[in-house]
Amino acid sequence: MGTNIDYLENKPVVVIGAGISGCTLALYLAKKGYKVQVYEKRMNLINNNEIKKRTVGMSISERGVTTLKDLGLYDSYKSLLVPKYGRAVHLRSGQVYPQYYGANKEAIYTVNRKHFNFYLMDACLETGNVEFYYGHKLEGINVDDKEITFITNTNYSIEGQDTTTERVVKYEYLFGCDGTFSCVRQRLVDQGLVDATLSTLDYRFKEIYIPPRNGEYVLDPNYVHIWNIAELLFVALPDGKKGFNGTLFYTESCEVNKLKDNEKLFEFVQENCQFLSFIDKEQFISEFNSNPESKISEIKCTNWNFKDQVLLVGDAAHAMPPFYAMGMNTCMESVRVFAHLIDEFGGDIGKAITHFTERRIGDTEAMKAMANKNYKKLRKCHNKDFDEKWNQAHEAMKHSNGEYETEYFQVAFTNKPFSQIVEKYGQGVDAEENGLPLISH
Ligand SMILES: Cc1cc2nc3c(=O)[nH]c(=O)nc-3n(C[C@H](O)[C@H](O)[C@H](O)COP(=O)(O)OP(=O)(O)OC[C@H]3O[C@@H](n4cnc5c(N)ncnc54)[C@H](O)[C@@H]3O)c2cc1C
Repeated sequence: MGTNIDYLENKPVVVIGAGISGCTLALYLAKKGYKVQVYEKRMNLINNNEIKKRTVGMSISERGVTTLKDLGLYDSYKSLLVPKYGRAVHLRSGQVYPQYYGANKEAIYTVNRKHFNFYLMDACLETGNVEFYYGHKLEGINVDDKEITFITNTNYSIEGQDTTTERVVKYEYLFGCDGTFSCVRQRLVDQGLVDATLSTLDYRFKEIYIPPRNGEYVLDPNYVHIWNIAELLFVALPDGKKGFNGTLFYTESCEVNKLKDNEKLFEFVQENCQFLSFIDKEQFISEFNSNPESKISEIKCTNWNFKDQVLLVGDAAHAMPPFYAMGMNTCMESVRVFAHLIDEFGGDIGKAITHFTERRIGDTEAMKAMANKNYKKLRKCHNKDFDEKWNQAHEAMKHSNGEYETEYFQVAFTNKPFSQIVEKYGQGVDAEENGLPLISH
């Protein structure tokens, strides 16, 4: 392994991770005139096994959209967004009914993760202020000398040969946008500079693609389709190309995890989650056996910065379970809040780094609490009682002249601070027993 030390004259702004948070942050900083270096461990974002573990389709709602608008990107991207007006709840009997998200056909949208990521990267490159370095895996941080160490590998294809090099880079400001399993966070924890816990929840998930039939969608593309029967929860999002990106959720102890025989696997899923009528048996078995299983984790992190120099951003700081489809939206909102904080401090990045945790953490904690609670709601949305209460609440919202909004509405269709939503909604309220309470402004 060779060593190459890069002492740059202009101490740069360094971002670790070229995911949604890293690219959004780099773009904001570049637009403010900073020269930004983004380091990404993957070789590229196209042909890489890592990306196969990630969900293909994601829902973007008001908070993500507001960030796109703020960056001047929304108008050129909106034609690619697929609107979804509510959930389509599939019952065991085959009956399907809608639960609308808003009162007046408000929609959330599907984005393709990879495409969206590329879009943000292109926008970064267009500024001329952002450089991307692939095949750079962060390994170490020396906060005293403001140096980071990467293992670089620019040629993964030569098997059996050590093509790795160690590279040391100086930073002035360092942003850890390296996701749930953030190395930046871990190194800060190792040095006692940040207090964080990563918990792995009991849920597992696998991607299952539902292809078009005869060139057409097999389900209505303007809904999030949900089957939540017995031990399985299956959620399918339209992909804008006549197919659906599905995610099968189950707990670790679920039978589906133990069945090795394909026929038994198919029978079990058929019995427990009737989405199989929308996908060919062979295709399902092949998808199930070849797609990797992923775990769901959550981060509890009480401070996101080290002095005015290092900051954790996005999932690295506040990863949450995906049950509200708000992780990426929250990350994009966090980056926007941080970018505006820089302006508030007259362009002083260091000051913004120092004050960001206290400005934002109450909101991300509130969103995490709502995301955790939402799993229960998704499991119950096929109950008659739940459905009646959901519809009553939405009907009342419709006729309230904006005086009342449901929790979902405020989360997905407004930019109201999450902590305010939770405060009004009340952590103690059990939506399943009491119905979805209406919230006064
Ligand atoms: C099943 C599922 C469904 C979801 N659906 C939705 C949804 O519908 N809507 C929504 O809003 N959110 C959703 N989310 C959440 C969303 O995926 C995340 O919140 C979002 O991707 C976080 O972006 P990020 O850039 O912070 O982290 P990541 O996307 O994880 O990006 C981190 C980047 O850092 C790189 N990296 C990691 N370690 C290193 C290292 N040591 N050195 C260099 N680079 C490194 C990685 O390769 C990666 O490119 C979902 C999540 C899951 C699990």
